Amino acid sequence: MRESEFSPTRGAVRVRGWYRGDCHVHSAYSDGKLTPEQLAAGARSAGLDFIATAEHNTADAHAAWHALAGDDLLVILGEEVTTPTGHWLALGVQPGQLIDWRYQARDEVIGWHLDQVHHVGGLCVAAHPHAPYPSGVFMYPNQRFDAV
Ligand SMILES: [Zn+2]
Repeated sequence: MRESEFSPTRGAVRVRGWYRGDCHVHSAYSDGKLTPEQLAAGARSAGLDFIATAEHNTADAHAAWHALAGDDLLVILGEEVTTPTGHWLALGVQPGQLIDWRYQARDEVIGWHLDQVHHVGGLCVAAHPHAPYPSGVFMYPNQRFDAV
């Protein structure tokens, strides 16, 4: 087992290295079919080191995920911020932190919402920027996002 240091709240790994994980997971708390317990068991059985939660516009699953983190599985709390002009992942948010989704690109408020995530040390990720459905096409400026 590799040397790791975990935070008591989110199991944050603080050792440099390569890790296997899934950065975009939906459970039955939004439009997924499996419970967080089933997803965590699947992640462990697949040998993943981490999993990032990404329910659509809700933090309701955070409490369920908190109990599933452990020395063998880092759980990164997040949200898929699902707006009419693109979806983005807020990863590494605080337990229960909800990022608002009630705006669109022309409102020019995305920077303020990205700041809410960056302020707590999280990452903002453009999710599937060319998904073939109306709100799936990403229309925000890319400059302040951390990844795609
Ligand atoms: Zn999406």
